Amino acid sequence: MRPANLDAVSGRSLIAGVVGAPVRQSLSPVIHNGWLAACGIDGVYAPFALHPDRFESFVDGLRGGGVTGVNVTLPFKARALAVADEADDAAKAASAANLLLFRPDGAIEARNTDGLGLLAAFHDQAPEVDFKDAAVVILGAGGAARGALGALLEAGVGRIWVLNRTEARARDLADFFGSRVGALPLDAAATAFRSAHVLINASAAGLESDDVPVLPLDQLASGAVVMDMVYKPLQTPLLRQAQSLGFRTVDGLAMLIGQARPSFEAFFGQPAPKGDEPRRWALASLAAS
Ligand code: NDP
Repeated sequence: MRPANLDAVSGRSLIAGVVGAPVRQSLSPVIHNGWLAACGIDGVYAPFALHPDRFESFVDGLRGGGVTGVNVTLPFKARALAVADEADDAAKAASAANLLLFRPDGAIEARNTDGLGLLAAFHDQAPEVDFKDAAVVILGAGGAARGALGALLEAGVGRIWVLNRTEARARDLADFFGSRVGALPLDAAATAFRSAHVLINASAAGLESDDVPVLPLDQLASGAVVMDMVYKPLQTPLLRQAQSLGFRTVDGLAMLIGQARPSFEAFFGQPAPKGDEPRRWALASLAAS
C-alpha cells in the first residue's frame, strides 16, 4: 500500500517550519501543510521544538537555504531579530521577528507579519472598521503589541492608548512610537474605553481563564469592536464578555491565519489560496487537542 503522503515530499521538496519552545501547540503546521496540499506544491512545513539555549545555533546552521525559512514563536521572537543580518521595518518596529528567511548567499532576513495578520483579521471579521483616524486601546506592551502598533499607525489610526500591567513598558512604547501613542495604567481603562472604536488584547492575559484582569467593557462606546489575539481558547473570556454586551468581536485565529499568508508566499513562492479552509483545519485541530 502506498503511504498517503508519498507524492507530497520528494528529493526536491521545499522545506520550511516553525521554531518554538514548546511548539507542539502550534497550528501553523496544519495551516501551511493544508495549503501545500491544496496548491500541489512539493514542500513540507515542520515543527522544530528547540531547547531554549539552542535557538541561535539551530538558526545559524540553516544558513544557505536548505530550509527556505521558519516562523518563530514564543519565546524566540526577539532573539530571531537579533540573529538576522537584515530586517524589514515591521520587525524593527516590533523589536521582534516571526519570520526568518534563509537566502542562498547565507544571509538571514527577518520579517514581522503579525501586524499584517492583525489587519487581515479585522478585514475578515469586522470589515466595517475604518482605522483611519480611529481611536484604539491596546492591552499589553510585549512583542505582539509592538507589532500591532506599527501596523495600526501605518493604517492611519488617530490615537492609540496602550494599557499594560507594568505601566513602564507601556510608556516605553509611547516614547518609541511618538505622539499618536499614549500610555495609561490598567486601572485607567474606563477613561480610554469611552472614546475607543477598537479594543485589542495583545497581552497574554486570557491564556488561562483565571488570570484575566477585570475590565470595564461596559464603558466602551456602542459600536466598538473587541479583538483578542489569544486563540486558545478561541472564545476567550474577553470575547465572551464583549459578545454578551453586544459588541462585535474579532478572534486571534483570524490573525494567526492572516500572518501565515505572507509567510507561506515567502517560503514557497506562491500566494496561499484564498478561502476559509485553514480556519476549518485549525478549528478541527483545536477541537482534537
Ligand atoms: P510577550 O511575552 O512579549 O508580552 C506579554 C504581555 O502580556 C505583556 O504586556 C505582559 O504584561 C502581559 N501579561 C501577561 N500576563 C498577564 C496577565 N495575567 N494580566 C495582564 N497582563 C499580562 O508576549 P507577546 O506580546 O508575544 O504575545 C502576547 C499574546 O499575543 C500571547 O498570548 C500570544 O499568544 C498572542 N499572539 C497571538 C498572535 C496571533 O496570531 N493570534 C500573534 C502574536 C501573539 P507585563 O509587561 O506586565 O509582563
